[in-house]
Amino acid sequence: MTEAVQTSSQFTRRVFSGIQPSGGLTLGNYLGAMKRFVDMQGQDYETIYCMVDLHAITVWQDPEKLRHATRELCAGFIAAGIDPEQSILFNQSRVPEHAQLAWIFNCVARMGWMQRMTQWKDKAGKNQQNASLGLFAYPALMAADILIYHATHVPVGEDQKQHLELTRDIAIKFNHDFKVDFFPETEPVIEGAATRVMSLRDGSKKMSKSDPSDASRINMTDDADTIAKKIRKAKTDPEALPSEADGLEGRPEARNLVNIYAALAEMEVEAVLAEVGGRQFSEFKPMLSELAVEKLAPISGEMARLMQDTAEIDRILDRGAERARTIAAPILKRTYEIVGMVGA
Ligand code: ATP
Ligand code: MG
Repeated sequence: MTEAVQTSSQFTRRVFSGIQPSGGLTLGNYLGAMKRFVDMQGQDYETIYCMVDLHAITVWQDPEKLRHATRELCAGFIAAGIDPEQSILFNQSRVPEHAQLAWIFNCVARMGWMQRMTQWKDKAGKNQQNASLGLFAYPALMAADILIYHATHVPVGEDQKQHLELTRDIAIKFNHDFKVDFFPETEPVIEGAATRVMSLRDGSKKMSKSDPSDASRINMTDDADTIAKKIRKAKTDPEALPSEADGLEGRPEARNLVNIYAALAEMEVEAVLAEVGGRQFSEFKPMLSELAVEKLAPISGEMARLMQDTAEIDRILDRGAERARTIAAPILKRTYEIVGMVGA
């Protein structure tokens, strides 16, 4: 049994996840992460969701845009169905225990572990020498984000699987090095038809909010015409859609659009193909656009409404940070004691 730190929670299972305010929310973030966050709220979990602004600045962010993106992301969480009373909703920099635990984990994680991270390799690209030290250390901060709450479950998209494995490695090494059973081995929750939504322009690349091409993604704030246009222009192949999932083999763009449809409609991929098999993309794409607009328009409308009162958003974030700190502070204190910090 992992050592429990006394907090006032009545839950034994705790969910943590975060999204970077590194741009506007995409359909990938919504289907792979946020929609899942909403699903886990109100189940038998305590749910903690975070705008990870300290992660966002691992690549340069314009300060005004960062402030806007953080508030808009908060509006996105609420518009998608996160209740800031039921869940704890805050921005990472307001809870300094994340960065404090990250320093301890910087001293636990090994250079070799970090060098293997595919996100580091993808984001640093060919010019690693010029990437920030923060970008390299990103996964240790992510481990701290999760473990500062002793979170047991972390819903994420497929691209974060490797970072969650590293989080477990850090927890295991810490426990081993200090001969304690303190940090839990967190379970990744990577489920659904859209755990990896691909770029609309390149079926081999993940859809990302930081992609320089706006046409590569659907933003949660895109209007109906923009969504229709981006889907119409999405890369596809000349074949008709197959009637069974096997027929998507070797057709990444077709698979992507079908997965998006299935996730939005909350249907199995097989059931979607049973309906649309044999149709051309010229017929399927308008169906997909209509469904996307139907599902996204209410969320973007609500986001715009909430953004008219940023003072209220800031109050929600204040309150969320306060609640988060009541869990994080005793866990950091105990960590410092374990490590041998005088006065902890
Ligand atoms: P950035 O390009 O700045 O890294 P991002 O779009 O990758 O932005 P993140 O904030 O890094 O978004 O990730 C937030 C969550 O969204 C994570 O759980 C991540 O796994 C998930 N996610 C990101 N992109 C996708 C995608 N294309 N499909 C499914 N899930 C995704
Ligand atoms: Mg990302």
